[in-house]
Amino acid sequence: MSFPAYLATKTDNGQAVARTELTEADLMDGDVTVRVEYSALNYKDGLAMTGSAPIIRHYPLVPGIDFAGTVIESTHDGFSTGDRVVLNGFGVGETHSGGFAGIARVKGDWLVALPDSISTRQAMAIGTAGYTAMLCVLALEHHGIRPGDGPLLVTGAAGGVGSVAVAILGKLGYAVTATTGRMEEGDFLKSLGASEVIDRKPFAEKAKPLAKELWAGAVDVAGGNTLANVLSQTRRGGAVAACGLAESMDLPTTVAPFILRGVTLYGIDSVMCPMEKRLNAWQRLDTDLDKDLLESLSTEIAFDDLPEASAAILKGRIRGRTIVRIPD
Ligand code: NDP
Repeated sequence: MSFPAYLATKTDNGQAVARTELTEADLMDGDVTVRVEYSALNYKDGLAMTGSAPIIRHYPLVPGIDFAGTVIESTHDGFSTGDRVVLNGFGVGETHSGGFAGIARVKGDWLVALPDSISTRQAMAIGTAGYTAMLCVLALEHHGIRPGDGPLLVTGAAGGVGSVAVAILGKLGYAVTATTGRMEEGDFLKSLGASEVIDRKPFAEKAKPLAKELWAGAVDVAGGNTLANVLSQTRRGGAVAACGLAESMDLPTTVAPFILRGVTLYGIDSVMCPMEKRLNAWQRLDTDLDKDLLESLSTEIAFDDLPEASAAILKGRIRGRTIVRIPD
């Protein structure tokens, strides 16, 4: 039986990705086989599909760093045929074939059983970006930041991680300031729960070691000067959860925010995140992310639209989350 897939191959001219048909003989090793119902487009998928960064490190490979679907075969103790599962990271879509295919075979140790109240479509509306947003929120909570402590800043707010972070923090009762390069999305961001929306432009300027103390904490997807400015503006004892590099991999900061204001910088890695933390994050996504808001920040695209959408996400043109419906 064949199924549709995107396949990345290495050529003399670099990497090529093409839509094709595969069979079960093409699947990689694993103890659980999943009928993929939905995948999602994350920033990293955009890099992988376009070959803009060396995300794919094994060829041939199916891209797609996450998927949700139903188990069709399992020799893993934790999963049986018919179980609904979600996968984020663990090198899937990088070194192990991923979600942009009708069937995936993976290690059961990488899978999370979906809570009954989250559909496979909703799981991919959340996707790796939304799960990472929750890991950022958990880091700020772990630091002891509570609603009422002061405003929290979310950068890249109209993107995937940012929009879900705004929606979660808003529901939890935090005062959220959203930065965006798309001020025309101000009403959208307020509908998700932002109390204030500000232009990201000033954050692109070189940061002073310390600036006026504004934020009790922050979620940053940008890195670069943006993260440096966020650190300089974080209040004494506050914390920043950094997960992304949408602006830059660099961090041109000084030690001043750390040693003069006791600011803490939490690094967020969703890919190799331990299972206990993942299960907690997915439970919290079930209770602390409004499903109507999730729908409002998501767009579903067809499998054929993936190449175009992959280029668009790298240009910052995608709003919120993009669900990819995988055809039979
Ligand atoms: P999106 O493309 O959906 O969102 C990124 C947003 O960042 C854009 O929409 C834009 O928001 C903002 N942005 C783009 N360019 C710049 C810039 N030059 N300066 C400041 N802001 C900018 O991507 P995701 O939300 O899926 O991912 C965001 C980042 O997080 C990526 O770097 C991704 O690789 C990383 N990531 C990391 C994970 C981890 O495990 N650490 C997991 C998931 C994602 P706006 O228009 O509102 O300004």
